[in-house]
Amino acid sequence: MKKVRLSKSCLGTEEKEAVARVLEAEFLGMGTDVQKFETALQAYMGTKKDVICVNTGTAAIHLAALAIDLGPGDEVLIPTITYLASFQAISATGAKPVAVDVLQDSLFIDLADAEKRITKHTKAILPVHYASDSSRMNAVYSFAEKNNLRVIEDAAHSFGSTRNGQKIGCEGDILCFSFDGIKNITSGEGGAVVTSDKLVAQRIRDARLLGVENDTEKRFSGQRSWDFDTTRQGYRYHMSNIMAAIGISQLAKIDRFGAKRQELVACYRSKLQACPAVEILNLDFENIVSHIFVVKILTGSRDRLRGEMLEKGIESGIHYKPNHLLSLYRSEYPLKTAEKAYDQILSVPLHPDLSNADVEMISDFILGRVR
Ligand SMILES: *Cc1c(COP(=O)(O)O)cnc(C)c1O
Repeated sequence: MKKVRLSKSCLGTEEKEAVARVLEAEFLGMGTDVQKFETALQAYMGTKKDVICVNTGTAAIHLAALAIDLGPGDEVLIPTITYLASFQAISATGAKPVAVDVLQDSLFIDLADAEKRITKHTKAILPVHYASDSSRMNAVYSFAEKNNLRVIEDAAHSFGSTRNGQKIGCEGDILCFSFDGIKNITSGEGGAVVTSDKLVAQRIRDARLLGVENDTEKRFSGQRSWDFDTTRQGYRYHMSNIMAAIGISQLAKIDRFGAKRQELVACYRSKLQACPAVEILNLDFENIVSHIFVVKILTGSRDRLRGEMLEKGIESGIHYKPNHLLSLYRSEYPLKTAEKAYDQILSVPLHPDLSNADVEMISDFILGRVR
């Protein structure tokens, strides 16, 4: 029986050769390959904003939060349905992640609920491009302006997508991407912050290398910092040349990966949209590169269906358990839409190595079993 994976890295000889070249050069840490990857990302997105690569998407959010001076006593509004990383990256600064409900049809942050969670301690909002969609971001920026909040966009799902006719990364205050193994492109592990705020960019550049001032600039010109100063807490969050080499090879494939993901999603939608037991999320499918494809199973039989799929060799997922139900982040208030969605959401396999025939087989299986 062929096993169908929920998600996976899609690698070719290009990545292997690129890593071999770094190993051959015997400079594995952060050097000019990272600079090349940053420049290539900037060119791909078509932005003049600063791009700073780090070792995970979680580190990208953590450093972005530190760079805008979030810390103990501050509160940050976050949709409760997101990867644990969004919450952990904020609580790592000492600030409190405040769970917010999501919209029923898209699982994007619900600004009406966010309004209720505002206190005098609220400093920032962290909207998540859930399932790659950030088409409702204009409303977030209006909300942020009205309430004097900084915006950090969790763009971990949406690399390669477009919004308002431009690549994700062109618009917005501070965006954080992830290049972990299963994201739209990977650098093994990895992440990046994109911002036009020069102070934030410089703080992140330094903080990824233990806070050594201007160490990035030295390394990119082939030097090391022997005489240096540091004034802020830093971390070992930099990206390595090995990771950057994988990332550069993957970036060259993003158009192909993106087209493939769009084709597979179109196939799922055409197969499943007529089924009354299955709800497809209301997302901007024309413009996004879907990292995950999520449907709601409306018959209360999601878990039974998942079991049957697994017996058939089809993996599935639940993106995500609401964070306000976790011990560390438990809220005193219910978030009804998210809790209801949590019982219904099902992520079906999606990665560029799937075929339309795979998607048809998976869809037919669901159609035959959902009741
Ligand atoms: C993957 C992901 C992250 C974190 O990225 P890592 O690179 O895995 O640390 C953050 N937020 C969301 C929504 C993600 O899916």
